Amino acid sequence: MSMKSRLLGMAFASADVLLELDGERVTFALGAGPVPGVDPGAAWAGQPLDTILDPACQNAVASQLRKLKPGVRSEPVGIRVLTGDGRARKAIIRAFALPELAPFISCALVWDGPPVQAETPKPILDARGLLQRLGSILSQGGTGPELAVDFLEIPGLGAADEAHRRAGARIEASLQARSHQGASAARLAPDRFALVRDSADISDLAEAIRTAGVAEGLNLSAITSRGELGKAEAAVAVRTLRFALEDCLKDGAEAGSRFGERLKRTVQDADRFRGIVRERQFSLAWQPILALDSRAVHHFEALARFGGAAQAPTGPISMAEELGLIESFDLAVAEKALLQLRQPGFGLTKAAVNVSAVSLTGDGYVQGLLRMTSAYPDMRKRLMVEITETSELADLDAANRRVKALRDAGIKVCLDDFGVGAASLDYLRKLQIDIVKIDGAFVRDIETDAKVRTLAGHLVDLCRELKIETVAEMVETEGQAEAVKALGVDYGQGWLFGRPTPTPALSAPAAVGKRVGEVVGWG
Ligand code: C2E
Ligand code: MG
Ligand code: MG
Repeated sequence: MSMKSRLLGMAFASADVLLELDGERVTFALGAGPVPGVDPGAAWAGQPLDTILDPACQNAVASQLRKLKPGVRSEPVGIRVLTGDGRARKAIIRAFALPELAPFISCALVWDGPPVQAETPKPILDARGLLQRLGSILSQGGTGPELAVDFLEIPGLGAADEAHRRAGARIEASLQARSHQGASAARLAPDRFALVRDSADISDLAEAIRTAGVAEGLNLSAITSRGELGKAEAAVAVRTLRFALEDCLKDGAEAGSRFGERLKRTVQDADRFRGIVRERQFSLAWQPILALDSRAVHHFEALARFGGAAQAPTGPISMAEELGLIESFDLAVAEKALLQLRQPGFGLTKAAVNVSAVSLTGDGYVQGLLRMTSAYPDMRKRLMVEITETSELADLDAANRRVKALRDAGIKVCLDDFGVGAASLDYLRKLQIDIVKIDGAFVRDIETDAKVRTLAGHLVDLCRELKIETVAEMVETEGQAEAVKALGVDYGQGWLFGRPTPTPALSAPAAVGKRVGEVVGWG
C-alpha cells in the first residue's frame, strides 16, 4: 500500500473536502461537494474563496487565515458554503500551513447538516433608510447589545466600469451580511458606506473590502472609522448620527477616517449644549424695533448670546435644531426674557423671542410657554414669538393650531425672515399670524434693485390686505429706512436704529425725541 493512499484515506477520515488555497483563491479541491453533482475540484478550483462562502462568514475565515502560523492548525471556523442553487450548507473548516508547501495552505472541510435555503440578502439601505433602521432598532429598546456605527470610504469604487460595479455589489452584500441582524448597512455615496454593528463585533471590514476587490481583479482598500452610540435615547442617537454623517458626506476625500471622531464630538457638543440650557449659560441682547413713521420704539427682539456678547448664535442654534435640542433652548430663552421683562427698569417694554420652527413641530414649546406665563397673563400681552427657520414647517395645519393657541392666549406671532423661502405664500395662507418680518436680503438691495423693490412692495401690499403688520429687518442706512417706509412697511429694525445691547436701550439714538421708556402699543 502506498503512503499516498494511506494519507488520503486518513485525510478523508477527517474531512469531506480537502482544499488548498494560495491565500485568496482555491488552487486545488478534492472530495464530496455541498450537493450531489457539484464536484469541488471542477467547480471551485481557481475561484476566490469568497465566491463560494456566504458573505457573513468571509471575515471570520480571512481572519483565521491571516493568523495562521506554520505547523500549527487553525481554530475551527463555522462557515456556510453556497451550493450554487440558492441554498447554503453549514460546514466547519480548519486550515494548516505545512512549511514545505508554503505559500499554499491546506484546509479540511466537514459538512454540518444538509443544505438549507440561503436567506435572501436584504438590499442595502440609503442614508435615510439607515437612520430609520437605527431608530427602529433602538426604539425596540430592551437589553439589546450596545451598537456602533462603522463608516467606510473606498477610494475609486465609484468608477463606472463593470468590474467596479460588480465589486460594489459584492461589497454591498458583504457589509449587509456583517451588519446588525444582516439588515443595517447603507451605501451613502458610490464610494461611502456606513453600517450599524454590535459594539463587540470588531471583525475587520477593510479585509472584506480587499477580498471583494480581489474577486473582481481590483486592488481596493477601505478607510474605516468607528463611532460609538453608547446608550443614547433613540431619537437623539438618530439625530446625532445624521448630523455626523452629513458632516462626513460633505467632506472631501478621507472623510472616512474622521467619522468616529465626528460622532464623538457631536455627542460631546450635544452634551455641552444641554448643559448650557440647563445652567442657563447664555445671555440675551436686546435690539429695538421702531415704528417707521414716528421712530418710536415699538418693541425689542431678544437675541441669544453665548459666551461673550459678540458671539453670533447661528452655529450652536442650527446644531441644536438638527439634534432636536432646540425646544428646551427656546423655552429657556423665553423664560429668561420674561424674567428680565419683569425687572422694574424695563417698564412696559414689549419683547419678541425667537422660536425655531422645529419647536413648533410638537406641542412641547407652546404648552411650556403657556404654563410659564399662566401666572402672569399681563406678560402674555407684552410677548411676541418670531418663528425662524420656517422651512422646517412640514405640517402647516398642525403648526397653525399651535400658533392659534398662542394667539388665543394673547401672545403675538411673527414670521421671521419672510420672503426668502419658496413656500412663503403657503405660510401666509395657512398660518394666522400678526406680523411678518421681511427678510434682510430684500432690505439690503431695496435702493439699488428695482425688482427687489417691486417684490417687497407686493409682499407688503399683500400683508396689508391680510391685516398683517410688517417689519423690515437689517435697516442700516437712512436711505433703506425711507425706501421701506415708502413701500408701506410699518416697523424697522437694524443698526440704523440700534444694535443689540445687554439691556433694552430705551433711549436709542434714533428714538430721541421720545420719552425714555415710552413704548407704543402692538397696534
Ligand atoms: P434673526 O431672528 O433674523 O435675528 C436678526 C439678526 O440680524 C441678529 O443676528 C441681529 O443681530 C442681526 N442684525 C440686526 N440688525 C442688523 C443690521 O442692521 N445689519 C446686520 N448685518 N445684522 C443685523 P444674531 O443675533 O446673530 O442672530 C442670528 C439668528 O439666530 C437670528 O436671526 C435667529 O434666527 C437666531 N436666534 C437668535 N436668538 C435665538 C433664539 O433665542 N432662539 C432661536 N431659535 N433662534 C435664535
Ligand atoms: Mg428674529
Ligand atoms: Mg430675521
